[in-house]
Amino acid sequence: EAFLGIGVCEELAEAAADLGWKAPSEIQAQSIPQALQGKDVIGLAQTGSGKTGAFALPILQELLDKPQAFFALVLSPTRELAIQIAEQFEALGAGIGVKTAVLVGGIDMMAQSIQLGKRPHVVVGTPGRVVDHLTNTKGFTLKQLQVLCLDEADRLLNLDFEQEIDQILKVVPRDRRTQLFSATMTSKVAKLQRACLRNPVKVEV
Ligand code: AMP
Repeated sequence: EAFLGIGVCEELAEAAADLGWKAPSEIQAQSIPQALQGKDVIGLAQTGSGKTGAFALPILQELLDKPQAFFALVLSPTRELAIQIAEQFEALGAGIGVKTAVLVGGIDMMAQSIQLGKRPHVVVGTPGRVVDHLTNTKGFTLKQLQVLCLDEADRLLNLDFEQEIDQILKVVPRDRRTQLFSATMTSKVAKLQRACLRNPVKVEV
């Protein structure tokens, strides 16, 4: 019910309730309505704030309107985080049949290429491995991407993923929605924000 109040559709509000999420967290309450209006969002929030739900729920809801392969790309600084993000997408999106692929290092490229061959709606990955697949996996394209999400942007930049992010930005459409989440606002994050968000709404919890 509380999720319905911030514009989340019934199917997804139920999925959230099934996970035991009784009410939106603060970052969710502030950012989801903006994202659902098509706005770019910059969210300053720590892990544990529910930031994954804050970017996953709008993506899933937009996807319901426009089901399409390679709809959203989420970039994460670490494999563990990428796997957790994909698990939340799958948990929230199980009822709507959402397909996800996880592209992280340390795992066989071929197994991931096979996942990409299934034309997932949501791709979650670390920047280096995403670039590897863009270069090497036939049929994996971000030309139709609708939403780009940069999670833990401060860590992405501290881990020197700038070059890979630039490569990815070159192959995604200009006309897309972008969300950037970060625990801290550093000058590097501000620069990244200027490079890839359009008139973003800033949400801070
Ligand atoms: P995150 O900050 O995205 O890493 O999420 C931290 C934890 O909070 C995860 O285990 C989520 O399942 C949980 N969570 C996210 N949103 C909510 C919510 N609205 N109510 C209760 N738990 C939540």
